[in-house]
Amino acid sequence: MVSTMAINKDDSRSFLTEEHLLFKQSIREFLAKEAVPFYDQWEKEGGIPCSFWEKIGDHGFLCPWLDVEFGGIGADFGYSVVLAEELEIVGSMLGGISIHSDVVAPYIASFGTIDQKQRYLPKFITGEMISAFALTEPGMGSELADIQTTAIKKDGHYIVNGAKTFVTNGFKADFMIVACKTDLNAVPSQDGISLLLIDKDTPGFSRGRKLGKAGLGSSDTAELFFDDASVPVGNLLGEEGKGLSYITQKLQQERLMCAIRSLMATKDMLHLTMNFIKERKAFDKKINKLKNAQFTIAEIATDIHLGRTFVDGLICKHMNGENILTEVSMAKYWITEMSKRISDKCIQLHDGYGNMGDDKIARRHRDIPLTTFFTGTDETVKLLIAKNIGF
Ligand SMILES: Cc1cc2nc3c(=O)[nH]c(=O)nc-3n(C[C@H](O)[C@H](O)[C@H](O)COP(=O)(O)OP(=O)(O)OC[C@H]3O[C@@H](n4cnc5c(N)ncnc54)[C@H](O)[C@@H]3O)c2cc1C
Repeated sequence: MVSTMAINKDDSRSFLTEEHLLFKQSIREFLAKEAVPFYDQWEKEGGIPCSFWEKIGDHGFLCPWLDVEFGGIGADFGYSVVLAEELEIVGSMLGGISIHSDVVAPYIASFGTIDQKQRYLPKFITGEMISAFALTEPGMGSELADIQTTAIKKDGHYIVNGAKTFVTNGFKADFMIVACKTDLNAVPSQDGISLLLIDKDTPGFSRGRKLGKAGLGSSDTAELFFDDASVPVGNLLGEEGKGLSYITQKLQQERLMCAIRSLMATKDMLHLTMNFIKERKAFDKKINKLKNAQFTIAEIATDIHLGRTFVDGLICKHMNGENILTEVSMAKYWITEMSKRISDKCIQLHDGYGNMGDDKIARRHRDIPLTTFFTGTDETVKLLIAKNIGF
């Protein structure tokens, strides 16, 4: 069963205006009708149907921050936060929508040519086009300088060879941003990385299987293959050799989104657990009357409150255009770790019922550990923090 949290409980967050709350109300109503009743079925069938992407697009919830000329409403980042949180309350499988709307689209909006923006962004908004960002390779995850996928210029095209893996939305994507090496002799080698916009019907492009995972079972994660794939030079995003710089510029928002979603998943676990132990009895008492349960709930609520205070402060700074990559990296690593810790405690309070396959609490427990890998593993995130604080 999918549960929803009470609305308006914590709407006194400083970045939320009346307009954000109206947006939140309408997304929540939309999801209650169009996603919540079908979520379990989507889990079993293996993912979100394309028809849902179009419905959510039709309602104007995708990329609301985009300029009016591309079909958006020029909304601020607070709307992206609301969208990400509301999707996460329903379930982590919907995170791919948030990645499309607030991770992939910003690359084109920031670095694309006017032609690229006109070609892709209006269809991102309507949900006619599903997007993905393909960086990780079978032999390369954290060390971006080791990218093996090559894109060599020839006769007005880049000839792309290589493979990408673990790509969210990759199985259904109509379009991908793909990190490639365009200069094999660049020193340092990361200066040879560029980003290409690659359409699904590009000759030489193919998809592998949809990857099974320990958690996020039915979310769309795929392998992509490029075998002499021929990509017009006009599909270069920004400038050649600037790929790593663009990725670094966008990392702040990506890590912040990751922390926001992870925090919401944790909050949902607390909510589910509190509801469960209010009803469940042991030793003739409701479990919520047992001191140990009260201690545990108090600890979890304190952690979540600390996380929420930290993240809300970062959201405000991000909205003000401040450079807070170090702090969002701290938030991403601390909150995803905290989330795993809390997930274990919540499962302990459910015991047997926390481990039944279809239950939302069990699903959260399976999904949460995977969030630590998004936007870089904990170790790479910590290395950046240590470097940026001068250590
Ligand atoms: C559900 C899911 C969705 C994903 N979606 C996408 C996506 O849409 N697009 C995409 O491109 N990728 C995606 N990824 C991939 C993700 O970004 C990578 O898993 C991540 O970057 C780590 O790469 P890796 O798995 O190859 O691990 P590796 O880089 O091989 O790391 C393995 C271990 O070694 C550690 N390690 C690595 N370097 C160091 C170091 N210098 N010092 C200490 N320890 C180190 C790591 O922390 C980790 O513990 C996704 C992954 C998952 C699980």
